[in-house]
Amino acid sequence: IIDGKESPSSQRIVVAVRVRPLTATERLQGCKDCITVVPGEPQVQLGSNVFTFDHVYGSTCSSSNSIFDECVAPLIDGLFQGYNATVLAYGQTGSGKTYTMGTGFTVGGSTDGIIPRVMEALFKRAESNSGDVDLQIRVSFIEILKEEVHDLLDPNPSGMGKSEISSGMGFFSGGCKGLLPVKPPIQIRETTNGEIMLAGVREVDVRNLQEMALCLEQGALCRATGSTNMNPCSSRSHAIFTVTLEQRRKLDVGSHDPNPTTDDREDFLCAKLHLVDLAGSERAKRTGTDGLRFKEGVHINKGLLALGNVISALGDERKRKEGGHIPYRDSKLTRLLQDSLGGNSRTVMIACVSPADANAEETLNTLKYANRAR
Ligand code: ADP
Ligand code: MG
Repeated sequence: IIDGKESPSSQRIVVAVRVRPLTATERLQGCKDCITVVPGEPQVQLGSNVFTFDHVYGSTCSSSNSIFDECVAPLIDGLFQGYNATVLAYGQTGSGKTYTMGTGFTVGGSTDGIIPRVMEALFKRAESNSGDVDLQIRVSFIEILKEEVHDLLDPNPSGMGKSEISSGMGFFSGGCKGLLPVKPPIQIRETTNGEIMLAGVREVDVRNLQEMALCLEQGALCRATGSTNMNPCSSRSHAIFTVTLEQRRKLDVGSHDPNPTTDDREDFLCAKLHLVDLAGSERAKRTGTDGLRFKEGVHINKGLLALGNVISALGDERKRKEGGHIPYRDSKLTRLLQDSLGGNSRTVMIACVSPADANAEETLNTLKYANRAR
């Protein structure tokens, strides 16, 4: 028998690195590949820096299949056993986060990416389900932009819609503000047993792969259209696709239990899997009127900063054992993921990097961030 306290929680965060191939544009610009992946070793080398991770996927590893099989499939097993889990794609804009997660999914388009594989695996397993358990799968799809939660599956979003839109003067003709039925903003709440809930978010019951794929597509489209050419929001926002799995054991037809709810805890299992396409990790550089970059003006995404601190606190064995402070409350992102990071939850971070020498500085930052998680 496994010691429930030690076994799952002593499992540290699994960290993988994925190096995408050089893009056509990078080739045209004469960029050189500056990353060496040591064959047979989970190591990457950039200049004189060598890093070892749990897994490294080089640029010749073209599909997401091995990432899914090695890193994500165990999380799905855990989900059926009642363990929450989180998969995070981290990296600078253009490094392959959306490609790797499959967050840009369109029905009939490419099916590469982790989310499409998760959906396949879930329903394959659900179909082979023995029949004495009722399975229910729900999905939600949200985005965190500037510390505000937006529902990507809600055609009637809360408040005035995206802050990008509402800040644009004249989008809603003057004076109608007070007349619009404004929904309260989405709130992150914690239940008495430590479960994190998103109040006001649409959760869709999905019965098959097609229904789930439509949700993913709808949210992906919503994310894409929300980011106008004025502001490419998707590089500054975190997109979180969440799958909730509920399992109910069917009650014995023969039993005449007058109070069938007494054994609720054994008959009901619920767990969720968060699939997160994080905001670009590059520091947003402010451009002055003369076009010069002000280095001191760099702004770091609050969620990414908090996530780094939470992950390194979780990796600190002493802190964890002594029940030390884990700073989940420092951002919406970490607050939302609180019950699915650390503890009995399983976490995989995939650090996405470009191999181009022009991106070497950001790539090194990404490798260092990922290295903190180990
Ligand atoms: P991000 O979401 O990090 O900004 P994207 O996922 O949009 O980056 O990827 C940037 C570009 O690189 C896209 O054109 C994408 O198709 C391509 N790309 C990313 N990863 C891979 C990969 N592993 N194999 C092939 N092309 C990739
Ligand atoms: Mg992206």
